[in-house]
Amino acid sequence: MSISTLRQQLLAGETTPSAILERLAGDIADHDRQIGAYLCHDLESALAEAAAANLSLPLGGIPIAIKDNINVLGQPCTCGSKFLSENYRSPYDATVIRKLRAAGAIPFGRMNMDEFAMGSSTENSALQTTRNPHDTGRIPGGSSGGSAAAVAAGSAIAALGSDTGGSIRQPASHCGVVGLKPSYGRVSRYGLVAFASSLDQIGPLTRTVEDAALILQAIAGFDPADSTSLDVPAPDYLTEINAGVKGMKLGVPREYFGGGIDPGVRKNVEEAIQRLAAQGADIIEISLPHTEHAVATYYVIAPAEASSNLARFDGIRYGHRAANPADILDLYKKSREEGFGPEVKRRIILGTYVLSSGYYDAYYGRAQKIRTLIRRDFEDAFQKVDAIVSPVAPTPARRLGAYADDPLHEYLSDIFTLSANLAGIPGISVPCGLSDFDGGRNLPTGLQILGPHLGEAKLLQIARAAELASARPA
Ligand code: GLN
Repeated sequence: MSISTLRQQLLAGETTPSAILERLAGDIADHDRQIGAYLCHDLESALAEAAAANLSLPLGGIPIAIKDNINVLGQPCTCGSKFLSENYRSPYDATVIRKLRAAGAIPFGRMNMDEFAMGSSTENSALQTTRNPHDTGRIPGGSSGGSAAAVAAGSAIAALGSDTGGSIRQPASHCGVVGLKPSYGRVSRYGLVAFASSLDQIGPLTRTVEDAALILQAIAGFDPADSTSLDVPAPDYLTEINAGVKGMKLGVPREYFGGGIDPGVRKNVEEAIQRLAAQGADIIEISLPHTEHAVATYYVIAPAEASSNLARFDGIRYGHRAANPADILDLYKKSREEGFGPEVKRRIILGTYVLSSGYYDAYYGRAQKIRTLIRRDFEDAFQKVDAIVSPVAPTPARRLGAYADDPLHEYLSDIFTLSANLAGIPGISVPCGLSDFDGGRNLPTGLQILGPHLGEAKLLQIARAAELASARPA
């Protein structure tokens, strides 16, 4: 059930927050073994919060599942890594958690993810495999794969994820749920374990667009504890949500419909765009000429920032500590060697390389310049259109284990989502129908809608129209 439906039932006295939690815990016990979305959950503490829930608040009594890189006081925060899975407990609430609680919600469940959010399949989790509820032989997408899979399977009402290069939108697309990456600065990152600080944002994964708006409303806003959060008041994301798309100009970027995109994805996305046109939107072809450089740019900047952020995992202050080191350098080396998985090591090596003297200008410096060009592409486009529509991922969910030895193939599949993070603009993925792919049947596909910086309200309005149109029988 969606948050809005549950809220009605709660207010009508037809259910209680405790009953909802007991029901979810039952679902997790019965079904999550097949899916593997939850790393753990703490029913007892959630029930204590439920007993005190204030139903008059906007999310009063609603449990929200939390990606395992967002700190919740007293709970584990493994980031899908062995480094933090042994003994780390969060000493504080992330700002988004504090805000969710202030809106009446109950954080419930720690969701599996690619280690330190590096990946697009959740297969890089060092802790467990998460499967796509639509086909358990396939990936849920990633890195917020646990969050997306639980919402799709019905074992969570809604969830928080994080998106550095697509990690909310792509798993939402693969699992057939809604996923919103807010503008950079819209939501506080305080208490989110940093991957690439100039790209990371927290956002909701939900069953409906309205639910995404409800959660964004609760978590958006200025936070003095995050120097990159913007001191700009958040508008009301629900007032215009049903206003439709009549007269809106929607840009279709040529570069997002080229070769390499699966025919089923293309068909579903094109039909979703046609449905928006039928509701009165103007469809305009546009160009984002630097798109082809997005993957290379992101895979320099994100690893560079990661190599710096992950320096704090040294065996001294956080998590895993190697036994019997010869000296302090050996302690650092062994702890990191034992604690990090292969993808994280690859990123740290890449990032250290592009930042090292002699290579800095050629790689990191150049990537920063191209990042500016990518941002300008969007600024130019938003002179002409209200929003941009595209696929989220080139294909529906692939099989588990495919491309296990081919990280480059995995990186290339991020082509449609990375640019929004590089430019700092918001993006949403909304389900746009099912498709067959690589032996799989009826796999979800997503429509991506990108908007100008801080343009979330309009994005939600368009996504709501797309959702309504795809729910209506043709
Ligand atoms: N797939 C991208 C990566 O591996 C994005 C991950 C994310 O958004 N956290 O870096």
